[in-house]
Amino acid sequence: MEQGVETMKTSTMAVQIGVGRDATGAMSFPIYQNATFSHPAFGESTGYDYSRSGNPTRRVLEEGIAQLDGGARGFAYSSGMAAIANLLLLFKQGDHLVVTEDLYGGTFRVIDKVFVKQGLTATYVDTSVPEAVGRALRDNTRAVLLEVPTNPLLKVADIRKISDMAKGRGILTIVDNTFLTPYLLRPLELGADAVVYSATKFISGHNDVLAGLVVVKDEELGKQIYFLQNSVGAVLGPQDCWLVIRGLKTLSVRIDRQLENARTIAEWLVRQASVKKVYYPGLETDPGHCLLKAQARGFGAMVAFEVADRRVAEDVLRKVRLISFAESLGGVETLITYPAFQTHADMDPSERERMGINDRLLRLSVGIEDEGDLLDDLGQALSGGEEES
Ligand code: PLP
Repeated sequence: MEQGVETMKTSTMAVQIGVGRDATGAMSFPIYQNATFSHPAFGESTGYDYSRSGNPTRRVLEEGIAQLDGGARGFAYSSGMAAIANLLLLFKQGDHLVVTEDLYGGTFRVIDKVFVKQGLTATYVDTSVPEAVGRALRDNTRAVLLEVPTNPLLKVADIRKISDMAKGRGILTIVDNTFLTPYLLRPLELGADAVVYSATKFISGHNDVLAGLVVVKDEELGKQIYFLQNSVGAVLGPQDCWLVIRGLKTLSVRIDRQLENARTIAEWLVRQASVKKVYYPGLETDPGHCLLKAQARGFGAMVAFEVADRRVAEDVLRKVRLISFAESLGGVETLITYPAFQTHADMDPSERERMGINDRLLRLSVGIEDEGDLLDDLGQALSGGEEES
């Protein structure tokens, strides 16, 4: 890379990950499929000793994501959950967390069923209301964990306001930025201390790899995370690092197209008689619209919508042809999910219902297909509901 990274746009930085980094001039940084590295002599190292502690392909990815997020260090894990669990290992018995209430069900599960057993406690709040976050803070609160926007209701938290509040009390602000990626949202610039990704999703973008990433703002937190990453060892293998690097190179073009398709679909869904409610922060009527506009350079490609009843929801899932009924998001293919029974099945049903994650709610992860083809498929799947305009 010739140009200083500080002057480059995120899209350029993403394309350039690994370029010029290999001695052979390889444009695609090689996969160092390797567990251990020989030492030149006693007390000397090439910089690599053992792949759990460091691997050249992983390092290129880790430095690449750190650059994209404007952080001091990046870390790559075998899944998004491994990344989140590694972050949670920062905390000890007696510590308290404030967590977004409608967040990814797996994150809820690891806190509620794994870390609570280790002595952590958590309060789940609607983090789109900063006062609710403030009210939940206690003397033993060590972190606020936000999803922006939330999964699946796409609520938007004010990262700057919340991180200001947390900083004043020595509390970490951690943002799960899986839905927007650093191309659209850079939480560290807004005051967050750490960003976490399921890189399985938009970051890699092709539904072909499971991966997780963490980026931290400062070196000191980086040292602690590195210690935990190396100690626990849920690192991302070199081949999967390479797939994530390859995916990142097309991040901006994929997301630009996904944003266009998502907006078209959300606007179309609003006009369908069979659709009762649409959740998409890109709609001007959405409660999070102005806040997300101020924080991010795009609204993302996740769209949730509510139909009249469970029968209609099941009908849609049975009838979609081009769109796949599958549990994930962020890839180039459009997927539809039934959150109450898939991603959020581990939540208490009455809590789920209270939040709006009910058996009428469906969630789309919009891909890069032709928008007309997507609308045709949704139209036939929702048939019975007439278009009003
Ligand atoms: N965070 C969010 C917002 C997610 O949607 C997911 C998975 O769906 C995860 C974290 C967990 O990531 P992974 O499935 O890669 O373990």
